[in-house]
Amino acid sequence: MITTIKSNINFFIKTFGCQMNEADSEKLKALLIHNGFNYSDNFNDADIIIMNTCSVREKAEKTAFQYLNQFRSHKRDNPEKIIAFGGCIGQEKKKELLKKFPGLDLVFGTESLLKVPSLLEEIRKKRRRIYDTEWDKENRIINENIPWVKNGKITGFVPISRGCNNFCSYCIVPFTRGEEKNRPFISVMEDVEDAVRNGIREITLLGQNVNSYYDGDKSFRDLVGALNKIDGLKRIRFMTSHPRDLSEEDIQMMNKCAKVCEHFHLPLQSASNRILELMNRGYTLEEYDKKIRYIKRLKPHTIVTTDIIIGFPGETEKDFEDTLNYVKKTEFDSAFTFMYSKRPNTKASELEDTVPESVKKRRLQDVIDLQEKISRCINEKYLDKKENVLVEGICKNEKLKLFGKTRTGKAVIFSGSDELVGQEVDLKIINTGPHTLAGEII
Ligand code: SF4
Repeated sequence: MITTIKSNINFFIKTFGCQMNEADSEKLKALLIHNGFNYSDNFNDADIIIMNTCSVREKAEKTAFQYLNQFRSHKRDNPEKIIAFGGCIGQEKKKELLKKFPGLDLVFGTESLLKVPSLLEEIRKKRRRIYDTEWDKENRIINENIPWVKNGKITGFVPISRGCNNFCSYCIVPFTRGEEKNRPFISVMEDVEDAVRNGIREITLLGQNVNSYYDGDKSFRDLVGALNKIDGLKRIRFMTSHPRDLSEEDIQMMNKCAKVCEHFHLPLQSASNRILELMNRGYTLEEYDKKIRYIKRLKPHTIVTTDIIIGFPGETEKDFEDTLNYVKKTEFDSAFTFMYSKRPNTKASELEDTVPESVKKRRLQDVIDLQEKISRCINEKYLDKKENVLVEGICKNEKLKLFGKTRTGKAVIFSGSDELVGQEVDLKIINTGPHTLAGEII
């Protein structure tokens, strides 16, 4: 429920981390605008500076604290400003942050988003410091429909679940976002219908494990099937699929729905079964590979992207070679590659970190180089091909250029009228690069 606070205050949001955090920041932005606050994209102009943080990797955490210190020194010259710190680090460190960082006014957790406007009002009126990191442990469902704001955007994120029950041994998410909770089926439907009314043409359904979504007898497949029928919605994407839970029935259903784009994001993490077991991933390489082959068999042009962790405790040169060889054989369209970093509370943090930093760095670079080569070759195959592109906007620096994405998620730039924004157009690809394609209207 939205409480309406009459306010004429500017706020700024700095977001760190994954798509779920981006989605949360967008929701928070809409919520604050509906409550009469004004958005500013420059923290110097803002009365309230909000940080939505990520603790998945140590580096992300360090970056967040660097920004916090920058905002605190800005506050020294502007003491009336309010600094709010939320998201995964807020949830993890709770009130300890208020003690450690004078100048910080609000710490909010991953389930406190809807309360932020009223918490900010309380701070403004009473000038007291607050933390709110409570979780609702009784409810297994979440209600969070916040009306969309028309802002010219064509694509939007729609969380369908929060939290995770998987406890992969390296991952902090179950500790910062709690157990998996699903949004009611009807609430997701209404949210997407509202998004379409506000100009959104492509949605990405978000969850740590979208395939385990359920509401009563409704599954992820039922949800996608129903969303596929919404008038005005052109494209549906989803992430992340868990390799253990993505079923052949799921893959068949995604292929049947015309609006579902030909893209699966299926995190591999490692191609060594020994490491997969230590990671508590719940699948073997052979099971993972079977799913990839099934996806490609049903629709060969479907792309698969992945995540890989390098240097997990105990990873030998042979384990790493297995991963490298599998990446070579499978030809992922792209891969997010990460160096393992120890996270508090996780099972893996009890393991001895056997891989020296220099070895981790070298292995990471090897896999990045290989993937770059593969991605470049894949993109070259688009040359002279016809591609259907959803036009998302006008490039900032090149007035005549529009940008959009193919159904397989490739970014394309091309010349055209701004009236095309929000429409799907057929393009011939005339140039390719490792990350972007160039096209012309057919
Ligand atoms: S599936 Fe594993 S890696 Fe993904 S959020 Fe859950 S615990 Fe973390």
